[in-house]
Amino acid sequence: MRALRLNQWKSEPVLEEVPVPEPGPGEVLVQVGAAGACHSDLHLMHEFEPGTLPYDPPFTLGHENAGWVHTLGQGVTGLDVGQPVAVVGAWGCGTCDHCLDGLETYCERPDLAPVPGGGGGLGLDGGMADFMLVPSVRHLVPLPDGLEVVDAAPLTDAALTPYHAVRRSLGKLGPGTTAVVIGVGGLGHLGLQVLRALTAARVIAVDGRESARDQASDLGADLVLDPGPDTVERIREATGGRGADVVLDFVGSDETLATAAASVRQVGDITIVGIAGGTLPVSFFGVPYEASVQTTYWGNRRELVEVLDLASRGLLHAATTIYPLEDAVSAYQDLAHGEVTGRAVVVP
Ligand code: NAD
Ligand code: ZN
Ligand code: ZN
Repeated sequence: MRALRLNQWKSEPVLEEVPVPEPGPGEVLVQVGAAGACHSDLHLMHEFEPGTLPYDPPFTLGHENAGWVHTLGQGVTGLDVGQPVAVVGAWGCGTCDHCLDGLETYCERPDLAPVPGGGGGLGLDGGMADFMLVPSVRHLVPLPDGLEVVDAAPLTDAALTPYHAVRRSLGKLGPGTTAVVIGVGGLGHLGLQVLRALTAARVIAVDGRESARDQASDLGADLVLDPGPDTVERIREATGGRGADVVLDFVGSDETLATAAASVRQVGDITIVGIAGGTLPVSFFGVPYEASVQTTYWGNRRELVEVLDLASRGLLHAATTIYPLEDAVSAYQDLAHGEVTGRAVVVP
C-alpha cells in the first residue's frame, strides 16, 4: 500500500510503498477514507530537533483520520466490517488514572502506551496511507448517520482541539462575554463554530490572511481584525474597555501571545493552542489580575463523540480542500504557504 512517510526529523515526507499491516489481537485495521493535514505536521517536518518529542521517525504522517473498519484483530467485538469510523488520535496506556478518566492525551504512563506521548501519525503510522492500524476499539468512534468520512476526518483534531479548549472555559463564556480567536486556519475556523454552537459569547477573529478573515465573517464572527499595531485597542474598544473574557491563540507566536495578554480581561483565560514556539512572560503586573494562562493538547474520546454529533446536526462543518494521496506533499506545501482555507484533506 502507499504511505506518506516522515523518515527523519527536518525532512520532507515521501510517498512510499509499504506492506499492509496485519491487525494483532485487539487491534483494528482501518481502510483510510480521509486524513487531514495539520499545521503540527509542518512543525514536525521542519522545526523539531531530535529529542523534542518522546518519539522519533520513521512513521507515516496523518493524525486526523476517518475511514471504514476493514479487518478486526482477534477478540475485537462491537464493530462491523465496513462500518465508517473516526479515529481517536491520542493513544495512551489505557490504565493510568488519566486514561481511565478519558484523558488519554495526558497519559501518565507513557512508557506503557503504544507510543509515548503520541498516536497514529505522531510516532506511529498514521492515516496518510491506504490503511491504518488502530490499537484498540476505544480509539474508534462510529460515525453518526449523515456524516461523511471526508467531513469527519478533520473534526478529529481541527475541531476536537478547539472543542476541548472552549469547553475548559465555558464558565467564562456566558451572555455578554467576548471570545477572541487568533488564527482562523484549520483549527480556528472550527474553533469559531464551536464558540457559536456552545456559547452566547461575541466572537472576534484575528488573522493576517484576507481569505481567512473572509471565512471568519462568513462563519458569523462579530468583528474580524487584521493583526497590527491597533489590534489590542480594537479588541478593548469592542469590549467597552474591559478586554476579552477568553482568548484562544491558535498561533502561539511571541506576537500573538503578547496580543492575547494585552487584550484579555481580568479573570479571563488565555489559552495557548498553537505551537509556533512563542513565549509569554507572566508576571504580577504583566497580565491582568487573575487571568489564567493555559495550554491545551487535543481532546478526548467523549468530546469527539460530541463534536461528531454537532457536525451530524449541521452545527459544525469543516471547510475542506481535497487532495489525492499522490498530492499529499502539495497539500502540506500549500498549507505552509498559507494557501489553504479551512483544512486540507488527503484522500487515498
Ligand atoms: P493553519 O495553518 O491551518 O492556521 C493557522 C492560521 O493562523 C492561518 O490562518 C494563518 O494565517 C494564521 N496566522 C499565522 N500567524 C498569525 C498572526 N501572527 N496573527 C494572526 N493570525 C496568524 O494551522 P492549524 O492546523 O490550524 O494549526 C494552528 C496551530 O495549532 C499550529 O501551531 C498547530 O501546530 C497547532 N495545533 C495544536 C494542537 C494542540 O493540541 N495544542 C492541535 C493541532 C494543532
Ligand atoms: Zn494536529
Ligand atoms: Zn495512561
